[in-house]
Amino acid sequence: MGERLGLKDGALFREQAFSGGAWIDAANGARIPVHDPFDGALVGHVPALSEAESAAAAEAAHSAWPAWAAMLPQERAALLRRWFELIVASREDLARIMTAEQGKPLSEARGEIDYAAAFVEFYAEEAKRPNIESVTSHLPDAEVELWREPVGVAALVTPWNFPCAMITRKAAAALAAGCPVVVHPSSETPFSALALAVLAERAGMPAGVFGVLTGAPATVVGPWTREPRVRALSFTGSTEIGRLLYGQCADTIKRLTMELGGHAPFLVFADADLDQAVEEAIKAKFATSGQDCLAANRIMVERPVYNAFCTRFAEATARLSVGRGVDDPDIGPLMNERALAKQRAHVDDAVAHGARVLTGGAGHPAGPLCFAPTVLADVPADALIWREETFGPVAAIAPFDAEDEAVTRANEGEYGLVAYLHTQDPRRIYRVSRALRFGMVAVNRTKVTGAPIPFGGYKQSGLGREGSRLGLEAFTEVKYVCRDWA
Ligand code: NAD
Repeated sequence: MGERLGLKDGALFREQAFSGGAWIDAANGARIPVHDPFDGALVGHVPALSEAESAAAAEAAHSAWPAWAAMLPQERAALLRRWFELIVASREDLARIMTAEQGKPLSEARGEIDYAAAFVEFYAEEAKRPNIESVTSHLPDAEVELWREPVGVAALVTPWNFPCAMITRKAAAALAAGCPVVVHPSSETPFSALALAVLAERAGMPAGVFGVLTGAPATVVGPWTREPRVRALSFTGSTEIGRLLYGQCADTIKRLTMELGGHAPFLVFADADLDQAVEEAIKAKFATSGQDCLAANRIMVERPVYNAFCTRFAEATARLSVGRGVDDPDIGPLMNERALAKQRAHVDDAVAHGARVLTGGAGHPAGPLCFAPTVLADVPADALIWREETFGPVAAIAPFDAEDEAVTRANEGEYGLVAYLHTQDPRRIYRVSRALRFGMVAVNRTKVTGAPIPFGGYKQSGLGREGSRLGLEAFTEVKYVCRDWA
């Protein structure tokens, strides 16, 4: 299969799970097929592990914990550094595996590998930083210290839209903090995760420290949520599944990190640089075929420039190419039939509510799961697409008349991940950035992510932050030690 995907290093394509340092099949031989979303071709199979097999992986991780936690920070850092170097050296192969199973254009896949590798490099450095903090004592004759210690085994559950980066963003922080991890990748994109495991093994990660367990989500993840020795769960995915896992982790009071849905507003004020706003809106809406928690889903434009923005944005959208990921179009296929049906439903519902289709609006002839990049103007607030994550290449635009109105509407709803703002007025930048209830605010630009920054949302977009030094907090406990001088 490695040859069919055009891999230089065919061994990166593994059809087994990685548990306790061993490559395993399901004992009963059960497997899950994985298909290329562009044409439905079979990419390969992965084991459908049982609850017992998943529990055994957590057990192996727990056994590996004392030695991993006791390792000198610079030794853990060296292993992470080696993993980073191997990921970078395998960039092209990892990108091809990702494109085969996820469908995203090859240049986007390469960009994701760079992004994924950056977390491993960043946390390899952070692993070395001293973790003892001294505070002024509040007691006479006593010295006070705060220690950060690894929380224990961490379970990582990740989605299909970023099959590598969502894993390394969690795993590198956990491993740097001294926590072994068990990863459950999406069953739609498991091969990227397994390739990362091949490279972790080559880097010399001790057995049990990094496991990738495939199978039905409830079967694999259920035993981890119930297991008291799994001390942290970090999830990226929909708010709906996040809620479910939050509840399942209540009995064992786990540390939770949740990176959930987003429904980003994209505000364009009349004083914005309109060319720049259009260019950035295209990137913010159509990257990963719109299947991105950061996707600009609610584009709001101040009335004086509304028509000009709509026209230019629709023209730029109509120029986007659609096709097979390896041919590197602007937009690849959607992930599955459900996603395609949602685009149709959102367009039909918006039109029924009075929206105008400026371009697209239907399936695209490039492939069965391709949808034409679409622009809907005059979308009312009660249309489904204004209230729900679209997760596809359909852009919704509406006008606004005043700053207060724009901010109030942007803040509506359960999500608060990222908001985009285009204006040239410095005072407005300050006022609006302050007023937006979002974990991230991007001003006059789209790309805001990176390993050194805290990624995460307000409200029901999530809990905690990933990336940056804050990303370590999910995987550490604070111990307060008070020593008597007397
Ligand atoms: P999803 O919630 O359906 O699945 C995410 C992961 O959860 C998958 O690995 C899946 O196998 C697992 N899962 C599903 N059901 C489960 C269950 N019953 N028990 C245990 N695990 C289960 O999400 P998705 O459709 O794969 O991804 C899209 C969603 O992810 C969108 O809502 C998007 O906004 C969100 N997302 C958020 C971020 C972020 O950082 N905030 C990043 C990427 C994606």
